[in-house]
Amino acid sequence: MSDVQKFLAENNQPEYRLQQFNHAYYQQLITSFDELTTWSKDLRSKLQQLPFSSLKLIKTISTPKKDTIKALFSLVRNPQAKMETVLMRHDDGRNTVCISCMVGCPVGCAFCATGQMGLKEKLTTQEIIDQILYFARWLKDKEEKVSNVVYMGMGEPMLNLDVVEESIDILINPKKVGMSQRRLTVSTAGFPSQIRQFVDDGYDQLNLAISLHAPNQELRKKIMPIAKTFSMKKLFAAIDYYVQQCNKRVSYEYILLKGVNDQDKHARELAILLRNRLAHVNLIPYNPVLGVKYEKPSKKKVLRFAQILTDRSISNSIRVTMGAEIDAACGQLAA
Ligand code: SAH
Ligand code: SF4
Repeated sequence: MSDVQKFLAENNQPEYRLQQFNHAYYQQLITSFDELTTWSKDLRSKLQQLPFSSLKLIKTISTPKKDTIKALFSLVRNPQAKMETVLMRHDDGRNTVCISCMVGCPVGCAFCATGQMGLKEKLTTQEIIDQILYFARWLKDKEEKVSNVVYMGMGEPMLNLDVVEESIDILINPKKVGMSQRRLTVSTAGFPSQIRQFVDDGYDQLNLAISLHAPNQELRKKIMPIAKTFSMKKLFAAIDYYVQQCNKRVSYEYILLKGVNDQDKHARELAILLRNRLAHVNLIPYNPVLGVKYEKPSKKKVLRFAQILTDRSISNSIRVTMGAEIDAACGQLAA
């Protein structure tokens, strides 16, 4: 039960009050409880005992072109815990919000700024939703909307799955945020049983992104500790189950690390691995992270890697890094 539901029950209010609240909060995108004018002034003022948002904005930073805006928040329940949310305003009109599901991350991938922090907090459903509402309100002033949400900020969605699923329920509920599942992407380092659970729980129209980053088990183990616990064989068994159930293409994230996984042989091996699978490869040139030893490959190398995949009919794209100049690009999120 949400806090507002509890509040209404405690105040013996009829159920339609909740619908009025949801409409104002998620759809009209009110900026304070004072704007909840369908409620009496008295009831509204009592509601002020609840925080309007679970997040406190610390600051925003944007790129000179204003196409990427990063918001730094602290949690109202724990002001020490800080995390980031990024809005990417694409030329084609899409407004994508990249949200965090944790402060820090326990998975510890070698190339990732968030992973270097360890896990500080798992976010609540409200803390996930309030990240999106912040930018939804911001865009409303410009008569624009959030068109896409990607769970690709700080943290590992599959290790906070109940909360992530509850947040998706709010996003896809037509009486709340009302987005289509197809506009949502969940990115995971690859936890096989949680991937299966996610499908079984009925989240079968979302986009699934797998952070693969290596074409074989041995190399993957070197850069992603999770591969030591779950072999690629187990991971692909879960991914194949997903594809079988949902009949949807899976995105594979592949960070190109100079001299580590960017050679021709890696591209060829990746093509063999994904041959006959419904797959799209997102090549991500590594974004430098302070204190991490990796380097970005040359542009030529990136293009060559992509070409090897293309020659073998593996659908792929090179991710245009937005926000690198403000440390808002993937893997640079460390408050
Ligand atoms: N934990 C999830 C989602 C958050 S990470 C996951 O790992 O998928 C989001 C994406 O950023 C992942 O694909 C991740 O591998 C990538 N990433 C992490 N560090 C990066 C870096 N330094 N440069 C580029 N991408 C990075
Ligand atoms: Fe966690 Fe994803 Fe970073 Fe790995 S890449 S440490 S799973 S946030």
